[in-house]
Amino acid sequence: MLTTNPFDDDKLREECGIFGVSGMDGAAAAVALGLHALQHRGQEAAGITSFDGHQFHTHRAMGHVAGNFDRDEVIRALHGNVACGHVRYSTTGETALRNVQPLYAELASGGFAIAHNGNISNAMRLRRDLIRRGAIFQSTSDTEVIIHLVATSQFRTLIDRFIDALKQVEGAYSLIVMTPEGMIACRDPLGIRPLVMGKLDDTIVFASETVALDVVGADYVRDVEPGELVIVKGGEISSHKPFAPVGPRPCIFEYVYFSRPDSISNDRSVYSVRKAIGAQLAIEMPVEADLVVPVPDSGVPAAIGYAQQSGIPFELGIIRSHYVGRTFIQPGDKVRHLGVKLKHNANRELIKGKRVVLIDDSIVRGTTSLKIVQMMREAGAAEVHMRIASPPTRHSCFYGVDTPERAKLLAAKLDVGGMTDFIHADSLAFISIDGLYKALGEAHRADIHPKYCDACFTGEYPTTLTDQDENGPPDDQFALLHERVG
Ligand code: SF4
Repeated sequence: MLTTNPFDDDKLREECGIFGVSGMDGAAAAVALGLHALQHRGQEAAGITSFDGHQFHTHRAMGHVAGNFDRDEVIRALHGNVACGHVRYSTTGETALRNVQPLYAELASGGFAIAHNGNISNAMRLRRDLIRRGAIFQSTSDTEVIIHLVATSQFRTLIDRFIDALKQVEGAYSLIVMTPEGMIACRDPLGIRPLVMGKLDDTIVFASETVALDVVGADYVRDVEPGELVIVKGGEISSHKPFAPVGPRPCIFEYVYFSRPDSISNDRSVYSVRKAIGAQLAIEMPVEADLVVPVPDSGVPAAIGYAQQSGIPFELGIIRSHYVGRTFIQPGDKVRHLGVKLKHNANRELIKGKRVVLIDDSIVRGTTSLKIVQMMREAGAAEVHMRIASPPTRHSCFYGVDTPERAKLLAAKLDVGGMTDFIHADSLAFISIDGLYKALGEAHRADIHPKYCDACFTGEYPTTLTDQDENGPPDDQFALLHERVG
């Protein structure tokens, strides 16, 4: 029987990564490379759609990009010099192939392929209305709502129909769309999820993160701006801003955990921001200790920052195996508790007799922290202090990130004292929300219009949550929401 590794089950999880290439022979091969670099954003399914000037070609599969898109026959069948792709993570029951993107439909204007990172927070209501009007849905993905809205729009041109559709949706969307007329990349008006544009000679590339540009040798040009549509048509690029401007609110958690540290987001190195968060954490929450130990891999940059600021030596006190996937064979009862050590193990000689300050990016359910603290104690640590490089995660995300329902978030149930007892640490402390903004080079959050979405820490959601408001409080709707996450 397969079981989920508790270390992997105790993180917020970005649900999608998207990548598009326009104007390159064999575009699908480049998309496959880009998706490899975005694999951390979604590991349960992947898909690529290409267009050869006449026909669209699609291959979608469950599992990693490697194993599905490193096969010659698959890539060779995806003809054309325009292609886009998608990696996704989904919750149990949502792994059906019909939900794997890019989604594709034949509209009156021709083929329409769409890859989406985010989550539409009024999709259930729109879907209900569309079904009443006769729409037949092929998937349970929120993204399909956009296709139906484009198909039924009263506007004449495809671009106008697409804009009309976007004006009806709420929530988070970074999209790459392919039509016979060209490729469209766009972000919702708040720019909640990232999307960047790159260039390689005459080829235009779009990606969720700059690491995916690096892997195909494309230069970063700029971010697609919040509320912007970038249209690539026959080598020509045009920019459109059809929405009333609002203050952008990109997801602050991209800096804390989701994005790869070698990515640049909004002109900031994610690695540098994480180190700055660690340094700020050391200023706000100092502790007497002998070693700073990161919970690998995501805690490493913040731990370097904490160590540099505090002067406490940085050591790799926990070693992570890179050969363990999200699931492994469930062992018998006797050895079940050993399963956690498949992925992380204490560097015993280093830890023994030492006062250790552990650095992790976040606490979600708290199960990982409990195991890690236990692991340090078993390795002979004299004291175990935990410092977290984000404020307490007290609220669920409705913008394309897999979070447990609020009742399962440790910080929603317990205060910091209660959390400290739960994980059996000698002390536990979090960076403040103002400290997080400071690490990003911003003023105190309280003094500005918040420049980021930080709703999982503050509960201040930057959009209406129509589906949740209509159907009850967000957490009661959790199961329903996850029926249609894309
Ligand atoms: S709620 Fe949290 S994880 Fe979700 S978009 Fe906002 S900051 Fe990011």
